[in-house]
Amino acid sequence: MPQRRTQTDPLAEYRRKRDFGRTSEPAGEVRVDRARDARLAFVVQQHDATSLHFDLRLELDGVMKSWAVPRGMTFDPAVKRLAMEVEDHPMDYNFFEGTIPASEYGGGTVMIWDRGVYYGDEVEAGEEEEEVLRRQYAVGKVSFTFVGDRLKGSCALVRTEAGAKPKWLLIKHRDAHVLRGVDPAAAFPTSVVTGRTLDEIAEEDATDGFEGAGVSAMLYRYDTEVPTGRGWVWEPAIRGTRAHIYVTPDGLGVVTGLPGAARRFRGVGSALRGFAREYDRSFVLDGEFTSGDDGEPPSFHAFDLLFEDGEVLLGEPWRSRRKRLEAVLGGVDADDVAIVEVVRKGGKSLLDRARDEGWNGIVAKRSDSTYRPGERTADWIKRVFF
Ligand code: MN
Repeated sequence: MPQRRTQTDPLAEYRRKRDFGRTSEPAGEVRVDRARDARLAFVVQQHDATSLHFDLRLELDGVMKSWAVPRGMTFDPAVKRLAMEVEDHPMDYNFFEGTIPASEYGGGTVMIWDRGVYYGDEVEAGEEEEEVLRRQYAVGKVSFTFVGDRLKGSCALVRTEAGAKPKWLLIKHRDAHVLRGVDPAAAFPTSVVTGRTLDEIAEEDATDGFEGAGVSAMLYRYDTEVPTGRGWVWEPAIRGTRAHIYVTPDGLGVVTGLPGAARRFRGVGSALRGFAREYDRSFVLDGEFTSGDDGEPPSFHAFDLLFEDGEVLLGEPWRSRRKRLEAVLGGVDADDVAIVEVVRKGGKSLLDRARDEGWNGIVAKRSDSTYRPGERTADWIKRVFF
């Protein structure tokens, strides 16, 4: 019997379930540019949704095959875990850590619990790895080895129930990586990428991102490394309350994701108001309020300019927005508004300096990147120090 071939988009269901105007999850594409000899990726995310669970994702054919695993991973051959297959996810999802709005599909906080590469256990010489894995997946028994930070060694996924919602079992094979009496979820309660707990991610996201009132905040991708080299610039990460400040001759508006924050920082930036009135200027700043807990008065640290005198700057490269930010704020005499410093030479000295000066972390930005409201892209990468 000839095999029926349907040209369907494997990510269609993933996209259908989500409104990318509301969630900061990646829309994503099927990956087509993979090198033949590149290792296949895996990620495990802890997801605090309607019920707390883990999501196991294995790269195959340019997407992440995905399973919801209610009780988490296993280090012990005697402890088998139920894994319910769900829709394929885009490979960009491997970088997603953050909060999905409560009103949206999968609403809740996502933490990257482990990530790395995996390989098929039963690939003979001359066979193509993905071909073998594809065949095993089709028949419902995949044997593979994790090479992660926390997950190591050989496992199997065995399908126990087919149909619309296939059920599988995740089984640890006997090898040198067996750990008995250890619950992986309890042993590792933090993100393997940022070291944050679910609560810390939720809290940081609440102050990082916001929507409405014009333009949403562009979000960071969190990572343990920041890129160095040409085409990048670096800023100290400011631990504060992310905000947009709308400055017009008529007054000053503050938008944040934190209820009450606008009132708390009401006094900040009054010099901006005077400046805008006097010179009939209007502009929108992106930055962070710091609260001044240590006796310092509260202040605003600006790092981007989104609009200027009726001109929309979102599509301009970062470097020209930056130049205009410096020009605008250079004309204002405000001791409670600062421009966040930019470092234009990366490398080893950047990290040394960041540590010496007690930065909270480093933000790397691609100097030609546009401003993408509400999106978490690879153009802004934040590394937080703990
Ligand atoms: Mn999930």
